[in-house]
Amino acid sequence: MGISLSGTWVTCTIMPGNHGKPINTKNMKMRFLLFILLLAATSFKPEIVIKSKFKEDTVKTSFVSPVYSELPIGAVKPKGWLLHQLQIMRDGTTGHLDEVYDKVKNSNGWLGGSGDGWEETPYWLDGAVPLAWLLDDKQLQKKVLQYINWTLDHQRLSGYFGPITQAERDKELSVSKETCLQGEDWWPKMLMLKVMQQYYTATGDPRVIPFMKSYFAYELEVLKTCPLGKWTEWAQSRGSENILMAQWLYGITHDASLLELASLLESQSFPWSSWLGNRDWVINAAAHQNRENWMHRHGVNVAMGIKSPALNYQRTRDQAYLQQLKTGFNDLMTLHGLPMGIFSADEDLHGNDPVQGVELCAIVESMFSLEQIIGITGDVQYMDALERMTYNALPTQTTDDYNAKQYFQIANQVQVKRGVFSFSLPFDRQMTNVFGMRSGYTCCLANMHQGWTKFVSHLWYGTVDRGLAAIEFAPCELITAVGKDSTKVLIKEVTNYPFGQDINFEVTTDIDVNFPLQVRIPSWCREAALLLNGALLRKENGGQMAVVSRFWKNGDKLTLQLPMEVRISEWGRNSRAVERGPLVYALKLEEQWEMGHEKTEGDYWCVYPQSEWNYGLIQKAVQKPDELMEVREVRPVTADFVWNLSHAPVVITTSARKIPAWQLVNDVAPLPVTDRNGLYKGTVSNTVEKITLVPYGCTKVRIVAFPVVP
Ligand SMILES: [Zn+2]
Repeated sequence: MGISLSGTWVTCTIMPGNHGKPINTKNMKMRFLLFILLLAATSFKPEIVIKSKFKEDTVKTSFVSPVYSELPIGAVKPKGWLLHQLQIMRDGTTGHLDEVYDKVKNSNGWLGGSGDGWEETPYWLDGAVPLAWLLDDKQLQKKVLQYINWTLDHQRLSGYFGPITQAERDKELSVSKETCLQGEDWWPKMLMLKVMQQYYTATGDPRVIPFMKSYFAYELEVLKTCPLGKWTEWAQSRGSENILMAQWLYGITHDASLLELASLLESQSFPWSSWLGNRDWVINAAAHQNRENWMHRHGVNVAMGIKSPALNYQRTRDQAYLQQLKTGFNDLMTLHGLPMGIFSADEDLHGNDPVQGVELCAIVESMFSLEQIIGITGDVQYMDALERMTYNALPTQTTDDYNAKQYFQIANQVQVKRGVFSFSLPFDRQMTNVFGMRSGYTCCLANMHQGWTKFVSHLWYGTVDRGLAAIEFAPCELITAVGKDSTKVLIKEVTNYPFGQDINFEVTTDIDVNFPLQVRIPSWCREAALLLNGALLRKENGGQMAVVSRFWKNGDKLTLQLPMEVRISEWGRNSRAVERGPLVYALKLEEQWEMGHEKTEGDYWCVYPQSEWNYGLIQKAVQKPDELMEVREVRPVTADFVWNLSHAPVVITTSARKIPAWQLVNDVAPLPVTDRNGLYKGTVSNTVEKITLVPYGCTKVRIVAFPVVP
């Protein structure tokens, strides 16, 4: 990569551990008590973590500081419906997976047991850890700390960490740099590093940084002997997760060997940057669903891989990577994109036909990748993409109580049931589309917890000029330090977004403080208005960050108004979708839920529509949606809002006609062939009917990509 690396190696402090022997819980408790006392003695507060923001690079490298820096977990507190969403998760599987799910429950490898020690426990922690601190839930903190403490306490002297390996058990050894072959898969450790990073920003636990330093030193020394692909192709597919954490630590320590490690990891990972930039990859993925190189187009691998060019740019300052990212992301969404803002992934990329499926992991991993890409690039396009994915694709795929999920959702999902549908991975038991705790492959049950939690912690970012940026909008409160004197401010964000157009930012501060406040004007918004204390400040076009820089006083209120017009977008099979603001709207179909039981995968639910779904939108309404589609606010957005039909706050009514020939084929509803205007030329019903559309995220069965009829 052409980087000159002249930094010196930092000697690592290795936490004393018992290295593979049974856990001494008394000793562990003592150590934790000491840690608490240490925190109390130094009056440690989470704000101190603000220091961990990327500083100016003092070592001469090409490293690029992020445009927007992440705030520590806990700086942003969810409020209103978003708080309720997290409380539901705490009361459901996010808070209790270790009690109800055998892989996490039974002699867990991440607690020293001989049970599962692969990806699912760290997947769960990756969402449960931020949740525990976002809600300041002591019980959940205590629960997740067991895994964190075990992992920290059992790091080997070499720096290696994770569940006791088979070789360590059999030969009573401890994995060393000389015996890396006795180690195991690199992949689950990448996840645990993400867990540790979040835990660190939430608590400032001084054990975390030395732990990471030691592990990265181990990696740097042994990767030539035990490369990423040594044990599984998953580690090669997902090297970006490891690179991200090495570069995050570099932002704190400025130890150049971490950039050397990141380059080495990149050289051993799938080359996502060139694949995304060179286009053949994405075209081939649209054309082929065979066994050849299927890991290259596995949707969750792609979701993690899209951050790879941004990370390479951060490390090398080479702008070509940003172009590769842009080309690749646009190609991905053109060839495989679906109206709810995500690409098909059932499990593989599978084209843009609205009957294709999406794995829940592909959504939450894409969200996380975008959250990283946004910080590094500051590009509004990716902020808009994150919003679309979060407020449309994400909410529909879990049940109200957060105890069941679909492995694959379908855009035009006219029924939820057992079947093979149009998926590239139908599985023998045909359980990939139903709602269940253990249905489909169980990665999503473990991984789905990071979606909402990380969205909360990425609503706001810090700016390089010591200001703040409201990147995504939702009811929340932010407490952080701003301005040249690090003045503490509280900003209350009061809004009904994504359903309502006004977002109010109310500033509380002890003293007047000068700092820039940036707010995103989404690309879907033609013209936004900014009001300061009720008076119009200025108007701004969509697709940019607006900056309000001033001395902010206690009680100041900035209002962002984002007028939400109804508009029409075009999707696969020349279909049309109805949108308003950040939300895509889908045909409202009353639901009939039916419970079933499968002996291996347990209880599950099917959902059937209570009325017909085969409607085409009337052409006139599609041409003049603002005039002929009526928006009604039918109920307030209350603090107990749940993403379901009965809570849908906004509906759109419009005219439609039935297409009698549009029927189920192999359990899906393949769109009828239309002309260039999307117009269906076959027989349609004489009767014009009023149909109701509701936010996609509130539906379980629906049509979202419509044909057009005369
Ligand atoms: Zn999954």
